[in-house]
Amino acid sequence: MVEEVNEFDFENRIVSNEYDDIQDGEVENCLRPKTLEEYIGQEKAKTNLKVYIESAKLRGEALDHVLLYGPPGLGKTTLSSIIANEMGVNIRTTSGPAIEKAGDLAAILTNLAPGDVLFIDEIHRLSRVAEEILYPAMEDYAIDIIIGKGPSARTIHMPIPKFTLIGATTRAGQLTTPLRDRFGVLLKLELYSPEELATIVKRSAKILEIAITEDGALAIASRSRGTPRIANRLLKRIRDFALVKGDGTITSEIANYALEALEIDELGLDNIDRRMLEAIIKYYGGGPVGIDTLAATIGEEAITIEDVYEPYLMQIGFLSRTPRGRCVTKLAYDHLDIPFVVGAGNASQVAGQRMMDLDN
Ligand code: ADP
Repeated sequence: MVEEVNEFDFENRIVSNEYDDIQDGEVENCLRPKTLEEYIGQEKAKTNLKVYIESAKLRGEALDHVLLYGPPGLGKTTLSSIIANEMGVNIRTTSGPAIEKAGDLAAILTNLAPGDVLFIDEIHRLSRVAEEILYPAMEDYAIDIIIGKGPSARTIHMPIPKFTLIGATTRAGQLTTPLRDRFGVLLKLELYSPEELATIVKRSAKILEIAITEDGALAIASRSRGTPRIANRLLKRIRDFALVKGDGTITSEIANYALEALEIDELGLDNIDRRMLEAIIKYYGGGPVGIDTLAATIGEEAITIEDVYEPYLMQIGFLSRTPRGRCVTKLAYDHLDIPFVVGAGNASQVAGQRMMDLDN
């Protein structure tokens, strides 16, 4: 099994939905839509958000605190800037792991102007002490600071400006209940349809001055795992093929040629997906296999498998999460061209007992 681990090249994964400074960098910033109008898809979240923003503006108050959740690369950071922009206020950006001490957060909060947005990415990774500063800040717009030590220590109750906290997380379930309850607006971002992604690809191509046909955009969109970040990254890579192997225009032929060269199949799966599914089939009879065992087998962290690989594989019905672990479905066997044999692992599927996703 050890040699299996070495076959997984997680670092250079093109269809990873995680942010990569080197690959994404400044291009990602210039591609970010600036207004709700420009923000494609997520109609449900957008419709409600428009009402809340309009109402807050009419009342002349700060928008209620917003929690955005969903897999990486779906537009949480982008949406938070849009909210600040639509409200006409400044945004201050930080992340859960970046706030090491309670004092760091207190300093940020006391420096906000009325109505400002404080965006905390990966809010589920906020430390306990920082979280406790947030409770009164979110609820009463005040923070309690302890000054001094020992018997002479005093607590000062300090008011802060009325602000909007926008928290982003890939796992809403990991937030503590007191924190989650303090958000007035909870918005779940969904994976995008190929049509929505094609619109995003065409918009990005226009900004980056890349010529692309309708079919070319759709070819990229349908292999982007429902994720704008992946669509934009594929667009940049395929542009290289269009320039070198074609006349610079991305057509469906060029896109398909490039995607084949990048070993991304017609559903957007790459080698890592295929090997992960094959590992479950080969070593665990198709499952169920516990997430930690699977993580050890393929040499990746369980949390990354859950946040990054699984959502799309589950959405296309290739993987199911059961109380006893992960199972590869018959659909995936068919896609991988592996005969579906009734074994201990997949017997329950054959009996048609698709188990419910109890983890979420
Ligand atoms: P997250 O914070 O959820 O990881 P980001 O907000 O950083 O995702 O989005 C990743 C990239 O995808 C951004 O560069 C942005 O240009 C693009 N993007 C995300 N959502 C949309 C959207 N709805 N319309 C257009 N582009 C989008």
